[in-house]
Amino acid sequence: MPFCHNCGAQVAETAKFCTDCGARLNDKLDDINEQLKMLLQVGIIKNDLPLQLRGWVNDLGLFVQFRSIGNLGVLKAGGMHRSYLDAKFILLDESTAYTACEIEKFDRKTWERRFAHLVRPTHEIARFFDDRSEEGISEHDGVALTQAIQHFKKTGEWLGLPKKSSV
Ligand SMILES: [Zn+2]
Repeated sequence: MPFCHNCGAQVAETAKFCTDCGARLNDKLDDINEQLKMLLQVGIIKNDLPLQLRGWVNDLGLFVQFRSIGNLGVLKAGGMHRSYLDAKFILLDESTAYTACEIEKFDRKTWERRFAHLVRPTHEIARFFDDRSEEGISEHDGVALTQAIQHFKKTGEWLGLPKKSSV
């Protein structure tokens, strides 16, 4: 079930307006749902990353914390010391698939101004390291990653990470 981009309430797939706050539901609806999926994945991967590698993900300034007890997942995301988005998930399995989500806190204004644009880079970096957790990062990949992050910080343009090198 998707969520209202304005208040976080669950809405029907086909709904044109939120039944809670009356906001018109449009493509922004997909944005927040896509972001939730990515954040959930970042949170799960981060828990498995070696400690020093979490710094790479944190480097973009997005705080993502995910914990699960059985099939209940708790996600917090935001700045380094304060969460702007708190959500609870009923997880289907150990992946990012979920049957239900309850958004407990969503400071949408702050979120969109400060963090929404960081979700994709953070997600890609988390995936990047997860792909390499067995063999570590090659020196080449480390340099490329640093350059991508520096470029993003300077220009706000995310060029993506280099493709897997077959070393
Ligand atoms: Zn709403």
